[in-house]
Amino acid sequence: MRLLKGAEVSEKIQQEVKADLEKRSQKGLRAPHLSVILVGSNPASEVYVSLKQKMCQKLGITSTIHRLADSATTSEVGSLIQKLNVDSSVDAILMQLPLPSGLQERELLEMIDPKKDVDCLTQQNLGKMITGTASIYPCTPSGILEMLKHYEISVEGKKAAVIGRSLIVGTPLFHMLTKANATVTLFHSKSKNTADELKKFDLVFVAIGKANHFKYSQFKPDAYVIDVGINRLETGLVGDVLDDMKENSQLAGASPVPGGVGKMTIAMLMKNTVTLANQTAK
Ligand code: NAP
Repeated sequence: MRLLKGAEVSEKIQQEVKADLEKRSQKGLRAPHLSVILVGSNPASEVYVSLKQKMCQKLGITSTIHRLADSATTSEVGSLIQKLNVDSSVDAILMQLPLPSGLQERELLEMIDPKKDVDCLTQQNLGKMITGTASIYPCTPSGILEMLKHYEISVEGKKAAVIGRSLIVGTPLFHMLTKANATVTLFHSKSKNTADELKKFDLVFVAIGKANHFKYSQFKPDAYVIDVGINRLETGLVGDVLDDMKENSQLAGASPVPGGVGKMTIAMLMKNTVTLANQTAK
């Protein structure tokens, strides 16, 4: 079984980003600037934001973290978004999800200027993604497609299953795989008998957020399984899929957790930030 390692592909993307940054600097353009909004004190979000900040520092992208208390109101978060929208020193805005309950997530996402919407979550950018006219695509699904490209795993004509339909992972992945000519089935929590269907698919993408919910032995022996899930157990991080076969696995390949898709998401965030900055060329 091939291990699809995000670190390897992330390194390649980082080199591309560095080359783009070098070109900007030769043209006398300033470093791209990513602003991250972090509301509340969700420990997982703290970790993700810190990893994003470290990667920005490593590559030479300016990053600013805007921290708001758990008690922040929709209107307070909205005011910050409006301020960042009109700040010409900011190229990209990322609102770290999930927001604390009580905040109007969709309303706030819609307030982000689509030109600065680095994870492609506004209606306008989701529409562009579906019509294939977007200049950037959501970080996690585009990282997954980069990973498949790197490992020369063809998508065209393949039967693919996407399990999970969130707007940040499953739904955009469904559209992006369809555009890449896969035949895609989207499963969600109301799908019936999902486990009985799994052996039909050449490619399976799992993003449900439930620790070890599926097992390698449930898939077609020569399938590729991409595990997007990141679940924190006392024993450490695990994905949504359990490796119950170890050396006996006949899967064609699988992405580990940690060390798989997560690394790609951060790399694509950097890439998207530079693309947005280049579109305004400041
Ligand atoms: P989410 O918003 O909670 O969505 C979960 C999706 O899974 C929903 O569509 C839900 O269906 C579906 N689902 C839940 N249980 C299911 C089941 N038993 N069978 C089929 N579908 C089921 O989660 P998310 O934001 O997409 O994240 C999913 C996982 O990926 C989490 O572990 C998250 O931490 C991880 N993640 C990782 C990265 C990365 O960079 N690796 C990035 C983002 C997220 P309904 O729509 O019917 O509720």
